[in-house]
Amino acid sequence: MLNAPGAPKKQNMPSRQDQAKVMERRRLTVHGIVQGVGFRPFIYELAEEFGLSGWVLNNSHGVVIEVEGPARALDSFERRLQSDAPPLSSITDLSRETIDCMGGAAFEILTSQVEAEQRALIPADVATCDLCAADVADPGNRRFGYPLTNCTNCGPRFTIIQAIPYDRPNTTMSEFTMCAECGAEYHDPRNRRFHAQPNACPVCGPKVYIQGNETEAHSAIENTARLLREGQIMAIKGLGGFHLACDARNEDAVRELRRRKGRSGKPFALMVADLDEARRLVHMSQGDEKLLASPERPILLLPVKDCIGLSPEVTPNLHYLGIMLPYAPLHHLLMSIAPPALVMTSGNLSEEPIAHRNEEALERLGGIVDAFLMHDREIHTPCDDSVVRPVLGNAMPIRRSRGYVPRPIDVGFEMPPILACGAEQKSTFCLTQESSAILSQHIGDLDNAETLEYYERAIEHMKRLFRVEPRIVAHDMHPDYLSTRYAQFLRTTKFAVQHHHAHVASCLAEYRITGPVIGVSFDGTGYGTDGAIWGGEILIAGLRDFRRAAHLSYVPMPGGAAAIKRPARMAYAHLAAAGLEDRAAELLSISDAELHILSRQIERGLNSPPTSSMGRLFDSVSAIIGLTSDATYEGEPAVMLEMCADDVEDGAYSFDIAGSPIEISAAPVVAAIVEDIDGGTPKPIISARFHNAVTEMVVEVCRRLRKSEGLSQVALTGGCFQNVRLIERTTRRLEAEGFSPLIHRLVPPNDGGISLGQAAVAAAASCEL
Ligand code: ZN
Ligand code: ZN
Ligand code: FE
Repeated sequence: MLNAPGAPKKQNMPSRQDQAKVMERRRLTVHGIVQGVGFRPFIYELAEEFGLSGWVLNNSHGVVIEVEGPARALDSFERRLQSDAPPLSSITDLSRETIDCMGGAAFEILTSQVEAEQRALIPADVATCDLCAADVADPGNRRFGYPLTNCTNCGPRFTIIQAIPYDRPNTTMSEFTMCAECGAEYHDPRNRRFHAQPNACPVCGPKVYIQGNETEAHSAIENTARLLREGQIMAIKGLGGFHLACDARNEDAVRELRRRKGRSGKPFALMVADLDEARRLVHMSQGDEKLLASPERPILLLPVKDCIGLSPEVTPNLHYLGIMLPYAPLHHLLMSIAPPALVMTSGNLSEEPIAHRNEEALERLGGIVDAFLMHDREIHTPCDDSVVRPVLGNAMPIRRSRGYVPRPIDVGFEMPPILACGAEQKSTFCLTQESSAILSQHIGDLDNAETLEYYERAIEHMKRLFRVEPRIVAHDMHPDYLSTRYAQFLRTTKFAVQHHHAHVASCLAEYRITGPVIGVSFDGTGYGTDGAIWGGEILIAGLRDFRRAAHLSYVPMPGGAAAIKRPARMAYAHLAAAGLEDRAAELLSISDAELHILSRQIERGLNSPPTSSMGRLFDSVSAIIGLTSDATYEGEPAVMLEMCADDVEDGAYSFDIAGSPIEISAAPVVAAIVEDIDGGTPKPIISARFHNAVTEMVVEVCRRLRKSEGLSQVALTGGCFQNVRLIERTTRRLEAEGFSPLIHRLVPPNDGGISLGQAAVAAAASCEL
């Protein structure tokens, strides 16, 4: 065909090109985690790359961008905006409108619109990024060897923020003035440290030093490494508080640390130099490795390999290790020259809050450590390391703190402003803001004055940061919890939430559902509506209300709380309930005198409250098969029972399940265990059969409840479900039976997640969901 001038066919090509060149201006509004994560510099560079003009700014809702240029370039810009967004960001929503062109050639980053109703953005602390780690390791870099650097993609946040908005004057970095070079980085939109509030360098920033040797900052880390190699115990100031550290291979050092810290059995967490060292110590899947190296850098609990050269004192009697990777430049520098695996346990005396201020640490930890590696960047809010366990390819939080807090959890419906006070152990609290629940860092066990004071301070701080003035205060039904008493003192409307209902609700809130579901809530202790100690509960529960559909039969808890510390007592009660008290002396190796006291206590009902606790049943089985007679911390006997279980054994004991509401008697299980012991069955097999029995009991009760209630969603919650063997097997079996199990992925199944459930229940009650 001829290309005759003016032929219509030929006109199409240039016209399409013209169309692509037609200038257009779009306003894009981006929601999600897009502030304080290097989003604006990223947009700036992207706009430059495509030659677009316009601007970007943070406002109260997210990031707003106006871009002008050829339509095709705008399309590519939008695509890349989503595919190449900075690693810490997460876009939940992107809306666009086309607006009138304004011309102009430049692209600018505009100052943030600080609005009165601004939804404060308080990012969590982020582990050192690869680029910052490379900076401090590079002899040619001006930050070579500098342990306190960071950028927009990494570094301290929540722990240094004193007030909002999140700008340097409102952080503990306010006392350091940026030098010219740092200032230039801070103001250069193309720089990784653009608007990185804690930006610092060796010239202008905080410094590390060994206490008493402040002038030799340059050699502080080398000296620390040397002291650790020599077997000394060090306090090391990190991101959210002090760690107590020693060489994990040095048996004397680890034993000495255990002695000085006064905690007998609890495993110590380790920091290892890198993934290779981690692989040498524990069994890890690829998913585990990814989690271990994630920006949150939690402690991962993983099965330990044999013959790894660590002191057995690191994790006495247990078969797993808590491992983490370096997450601050200080750690990177230290781990490159220190022993490859260091004990890095929270700097506190047993259950006190973690030490975080320098003078306070000197005072409280002075008797525990040989030397202090300090720095003069203040920690405003202490934050312990987070702990997770891999479950069925996902992460299940055991302790949600550094790296995760205060990231909001969206519960899927608008809530009034609520303060939920949590429970007593592994305490956290929760504030609500619209549909977001903001959980606090791990506070600790609320049973002493220091922790209560820390708790109260943390509540006031979080209320200020998030500008939440609670209209409702939700709390546990237990009248004696300090968190309950704290709630009683407030003049706000109170709302009591039953403990196991709160566990189920915390799981529902994670999944943004309101129920009802079958809620399997198994834990150690929770105050029941009948005044008994509940803990083996299967509820029909939604956020609004719950009904106790099934529970473990009551067994007396001789000596009350004393039975938690001494599982042999609880085991005696369970043996007696199975008619086997005459076997107690030999199985539990307890003295005649103690037996006599126990039988009298139970007979007369002296200080022996009835309990349906599943946690206490785990303790009892652990004691009956001879794993533990005394617990050095709550949950230890259950952990030992889990760790000892055989991996392949498929047999199961049978609970007696009868009545309506359903009562579940453990007596036949206890009797069968004793029979197995008599027959010489090994402990790992007995443990496995017991775990399987609990799973099959859950499946059977759920089957019955599905029939009567028509429900097939099953929430698995409560401290007992930190047990990976139990939760994995129960999940699989429920799925095989056609149920939809819900397991925790955002908050711990233990009492650390309770505050979320309390908030959700109180909110649902007030909004008539
Ligand atoms: Zn960085
Ligand atoms: Zn500087
Ligand atoms: Fe609980």
